[in-house]
Amino acid sequence: MFGFSIAKLLFTIAAVIVAWNGFKWYTRMQKNRAVGKSGRGERKATAQGPANSGGVVDAEEMVKCSVCETYVSSTSAVSCGKNGCPYPG
Ligand SMILES: [Zn+2]
Repeated sequence: MFGFSIAKLLFTIAAVIVAWNGFKWYTRMQKNRAVGKSGRGERKATAQGPANSGGVVDAEEMVKCSVCETYVSSTSAVSCGKNGCPYPG
């Protein structure tokens, strides 16, 4: 009676361990897939990181110069040097 319940307990524990390991393996597999997918995205994000950080600085308010047709920051707009450029140079 007692031995049977210990065997039952051990079997239950073993089943839980197997199920837990299977769950861990399944989670790890999905995590690896997710990391693999997002890893590519992170590489893109990292590659865009410096450009983004630089863009954030310049992206306060971009205005297009009607003469040189380049977008410049409205707060730090510098003349392109061409005649008629509305920005101070
Ligand atoms: Zn200009």
